[in-house]
Amino acid sequence: MKNFNINNLVRPNVAGLKPYSSARDEYQSTGSEMVFLDANENPFQTDVNRYPDPQQRSLKVELAKLKNVVQGNILLGNGSDEVLDLLFRAFCEPGKDNIITLPPTYGMYKVLANINNIENREVLLNADFEPNVEEILKWVNQNTKMIFLCSPNNPTGNSFSEENVSEILNNFNGLVIIDEAYIDFSAQESWLNKLEQYPNLVITQTLSKAYGMAGIRLGICYASAEIIGILNKIKPPYNVNELTQLRALDRVLNSDKVNSEVSDLLEERDAVGKALVEVKFIEKIYHSDANFILVKVDNANKRYDQLIQKGIVIRNRTTQPLCENTLRFTVGTEAENRKLIEVLKSIE
Ligand SMILES: *Cc1c(COP(=O)(O)O)cnc(C)c1O
Repeated sequence: MKNFNINNLVRPNVAGLKPYSSARDEYQSTGSEMVFLDANENPFQTDVNRYPDPQQRSLKVELAKLKNVVQGNILLGNGSDEVLDLLFRAFCEPGKDNIITLPPTYGMYKVLANINNIENREVLLNADFEPNVEEILKWVNQNTKMIFLCSPNNPTGNSFSEENVSEILNNFNGLVIIDEAYIDFSAQESWLNKLEQYPNLVITQTLSKAYGMAGIRLGICYASAEIIGILNKIKPPYNVNELTQLRALDRVLNSDKVNSEVSDLLEERDAVGKALVEVKFIEKIYHSDANFILVKVDNANKRYDQLIQKGIVIRNRTTQPLCENTLRFTVGTEAENRKLIEVLKSIE
């Protein structure tokens, strides 16, 4: 992107902001034994009586190694939802700026736009669930700060073509946020190795899906050091708690285990996909690059209710644009998937 200057995008109040400086920001442990009487903590041991590292250094060191980026390109948050909210608060002026989202997609972008009083310009995906690049660029004006691409996309399951994504990156002078929550399940490569090539690229990932840690709330933002620096100014000082940092570090250090679980889930996804072909009322099975499968059925509301009756909870996506009469199945364990298929084949 030519002429890209992050200082033209950041909100003026954020640009001028002096961040809160916590006790742990002002004195960082150097390894030698110190007596810490600076943060009004309780000295008696509970394992969590001390404030956590506001910069989550140990975790970032390992993530940086695993993802082949430098620590200065990483910001961590309380789930990707917090990371996405920080992007709005750093770059979008309420009541003035706008963003572009591409329905059908993850619902949080719209909710966060509404919370932050930012206009959400919706440009539907095309019939193949790919971004309509020409139309998207038509809707850009000087107040368009961010375009959200979810790839692999939730709820459709497909990854966007590299060509479409790079066309948006090359022709939009604001931030392109690629939400890669499902990237570990995808046959497509992450956009992470393009970070240096595109100063307007922001990638979000999460430990909630492939890493199996939705309960600890850890979201990750990868971007240029300039963008990360701006987000760091506005993040709550202790936004990632000590328990989360420890559990996440342990999991990241055991990424072999994660990889083997992912490959099991991919096998299961393929098996479920094949079995679904034999279900009479399923009219279409969409290709999935994620850990869920979207299908079109004869009557989504009816089938959803029938599955609930049989003790299976899935997601009914029928009210989403381009998703009339669709259902989304998360890939579960082999036993769970077997039960799903059995029930689907048994209902009339
Ligand atoms: C599940 C999901 C997330 C995860 O959000 P967390 O706050 O990290 O749990 C992010 N984006 C998409 C598209 C998702 O489906």
